[in-house]
Amino acid sequence: MSALVCPTIAAVREAVRTAREQGKTIGVVPTMGALHEGHASLMRQARAETGYLVVTVFVNPLQFDRPEDLARYPRDLATDVKLCERMGAEAVFAPSAEEMYPGELLTTVEVTGVSDKLEGEFRPGHFKGVATVVAKLLNIVGADRAYFGEKDAQQLAVIQKMAADLNLPSRIVPVATVRERDGLALSSRNRLLTEEQRRVAPALYRALSAARDRIQGGASPGEAREAALAALAATPDIQVQYLEVADAATMQPVERIEGHVRVAAAVWLGKVRLIDNVLVG
Ligand code: AMP
Repeated sequence: MSALVCPTIAAVREAVRTAREQGKTIGVVPTMGALHEGHASLMRQARAETGYLVVTVFVNPLQFDRPEDLARYPRDLATDVKLCERMGAEAVFAPSAEEMYPGELLTTVEVTGVSDKLEGEFRPGHFKGVATVVAKLLNIVGADRAYFGEKDAQQLAVIQKMAADLNLPSRIVPVATVRERDGLALSSRNRLLTEEQRRVAPALYRALSAARDRIQGGASPGEAREAALAALAATPDIQVQYLEVADAATMQPVERIEGHVRVAAAVWLGKVRLIDNVLVG
């Protein structure tokens, strides 16, 4: 089945309006393209739960804190559209930056607290860019359900809080992280890794999983964190930017385990920055 590719806000709104007239529920999967099996998993769940699936493909300049990261972010719309079609998406919203940001942007969305630690400490302005574009996309598409990956756990927490605080009409649906067989979380940035970096990259997930197992075995967050940091320090080529045990909803580092927590980290492999996390409890 072919998908309707909508380069404009007017076109996607018209497509959604028609689907609604036919009594369909609307699902949206926001992405930055360079689609892989992780994105496909979001689409699969959306496909199963809604009647009309819109995938958005937009490399949002507002959320890049490093210009070189934006410049070399992989882009291939034709291949992305094919994957969306294979997954049964009815529409692909792929606007230009001018379509999304036609004039001076004087209104932004900032989710304080949840955005401050972990990624927020090392990527100033990133979550403001994410929250702003997701608010815009949800307003444009007007979906019943919007799907986000747990791979970006802090992003998920930021969006959940934004949706609750602003009474956004879309229900935010989390989807589990898809991994390679060796544990490496699928990411559009993985294709930038050299062969050698790709070989050592699964050490990140192994360290996070070991920390989770220790916490489940009764270790404190501090002990689990130290063990994971020691394991990663022994891995050449990996530089840890942060590794924290944080509350899953507030994303504040914790010293004692209460409720759901995530062990989350960001590491550098050469010039490639990878993030990952595991849920405990
Ligand atoms: P991105 O294109 O990287 O902005 O990601 C778009 C959506 O796909 C976000 O909700 C991500 O959390 C999700 N996603 C990316 N990688 C994965 C993965 N390996 N497993 C599950 N979801 C993912």
